[in-house]
Amino acid sequence: MERKKVIVTGGTGFIGSHTVVSLLEQGFEVVIVDNLINSSLDVLDGIEKIAGSRPDFFELDMQDSTRTAEFFATQTDAVAVIHFAALKAVGESMKKPLMYYRNNLFSMVNLLESMTRHGIFNLIFSSSCTVYGDPDVVPIRESNEVKPALSPYGNTKKVCEDMIQNLGRSEEGFHAISLRYFNPIGAHDSVEIGELPIGVPNNLLPYITQTAAGLREELLVFGGDYDTPDGTAVRDYIHVMDVADAHVKALNRLLSGTQKKRLEVFNLGTGKGSSVLEVIQSFEKMSGCKVPFRIVGRREGDVPEVYAATDLANQELGWQAKRSLDDMTASSWRWECRVRQLEV
Ligand code: UDP
Repeated sequence: MERKKVIVTGGTGFIGSHTVVSLLEQGFEVVIVDNLINSSLDVLDGIEKIAGSRPDFFELDMQDSTRTAEFFATQTDAVAVIHFAALKAVGESMKKPLMYYRNNLFSMVNLLESMTRHGIFNLIFSSSCTVYGDPDVVPIRESNEVKPALSPYGNTKKVCEDMIQNLGRSEEGFHAISLRYFNPIGAHDSVEIGELPIGVPNNLLPYITQTAAGLREELLVFGGDYDTPDGTAVRDYIHVMDVADAHVKALNRLLSGTQKKRLEVFNLGTGKGSSVLEVIQSFEKMSGCKVPFRIVGRREGDVPEVYAATDLANQELGWQAKRSLDDMTASSWRWECRVRQLEV
């Protein structure tokens, strides 16, 4: 049987690379498009080692409309696009909002124009729980009001979802699924691929693992006075391999035409909130390493508590996160040890 071709933008990035592995394992042909500003070509070796085949790769910055159009003109046999390529640091987006709007929105416009021009009518979009802003109630349901985003990054995700929604109304046949991720962490079980932040990490888990590995002196815990059980902020951490699996389920739903609306939205979380201190405790238990930390003031743009209601994804996608917080912190540590060549 001929393999179905899927274009994965941002496929050498953290979530993208894990999804590419899952797609290859499920028999899809994969073409990666990435501008490599936040990832490296070595990731292709890791993917090949795990999946036993190497995806095609095109270096392309999708802000460039001409090159994006030229690329898509050669890919008219693709059945779908999974769009990960975007800038993703909340804090950086506060400092450089226009860079975020230019990158995330221009590339989305260019992508959607090329897809519709060439009749590629299935899209999976990498969205985020940041579109919910500071929610009034948790767990957050997809039907919850989408509040104003607290950062330019979050707003780009919201505007991209709006663009897709509008296009779904105007373009007969166009279908999309937007997956709103909560906090993906961990690495592939093989530790051939994982998260590789450039410079000082912004996110909690890479900061914890780098502190344990001795690269950072101490972890700063942002905020100890939230109205949460231990005073630190609560998030819904989810294993990146569970996130990858959800993309394959979503793709199969698109391709089998079983969608209920032109644009469907699903939360990808575990449904369980964990505080920063709980994450540190889990990490220390699973790694056997101490993480020196100090509680400091709140970080701008942070919300106190977010975790997902997952029943819609469970029912409609037939998907459920399988891995626990301990699995995630253990996996992040094994990956850090592999990268730093430390004994586990
Ligand atoms: N956090 C922290 N210290 C750090 C990085 C993050 O205390 O060095 C906290 C952050 O304030 C938030 C949680 O860890 O409550 C998760 O932050 P992350 O940046 O990983 O993800 P976000 O939820 O902001 O997307």
